[in-house]
Amino acid sequence: MPFQNIKPITVLCQDNTKTTALSTIYSAIVCVLYHAGVLAEYNRLFNNSTGVYAFKKTGVGVKQHIAKARKQSMAGALNAAALLDFIANDTSRSSEDRYDIALITESLHWTYGSPRLVGGVGMQHQGSVVTYADLLYILQSVNGESGLTKFNLFLKMRTVHELGHVFGLWPNTAPINATDEEMAQAHCPNYCVMYWTLKEDFIEKIRTRPFCPSCLAQLKSFFIKR
Ligand SMILES: [Zn+2]
Ligand SMILES: [Zn+2]
Repeated sequence: MPFQNIKPITVLCQDNTKTTALSTIYSAIVCVLYHAGVLAEYNRLFNNSTGVYAFKKTGVGVKQHIAKARKQSMAGALNAAALLDFIANDTSRSSEDRYDIALITESLHWTYGSPRLVGGVGMQHQGSVVTYADLLYILQSVNGESGLTKFNLFLKMRTVHELGHVFGLWPNTAPINATDEEMAQAHCPNYCVMYWTLKEDFIEKIRTRPFCPSCLAQLKSFFIKR
């Protein structure tokens, strides 16, 4: 099959990252590649020595990038778009074309001049920054399904959403300081992981089929030439 846009995916995280959260990022990547129809191709091209993950994991941390992004950030949260740019422009790493996924343990705001708190950002063809800081409360819940399972599911769907943006779905068109309505308009209106906001009950409804038919077709066409 004629593929396109297949590049290594690097995952970066801080030293204090929860192991379970990092595993969830991996499962989100596998989930998206599977739905896109390119998991086998990724495995074939980038299978690492453990044979478990189909992407490269970088040994480089994000500490220095966070320090730089913090200078561009509003109080109380990290500028997600700035962080993504610092990671993309890291000259100490190989210049190899890649997608960067950074998992962050502190709160994120969207971008320069926008105080909107976000779970993550995803830039088409570039990469994504995702946080779980605002999801830690879920670990405290004790009723029914364990908090850990819920936490992992929430983080997974959030990451799948941001990867959707990276892989061409609903590339960001909302203005800086967009209203909720404008954010909604820049996202999929269906029962779909690309909906503008992911709440717990919504996630339950899409967990087995994260992408609506339209987004799924578009996701496939990002990687597979017709
Ligand atoms: Zn989005
Ligand atoms: Zn959709």
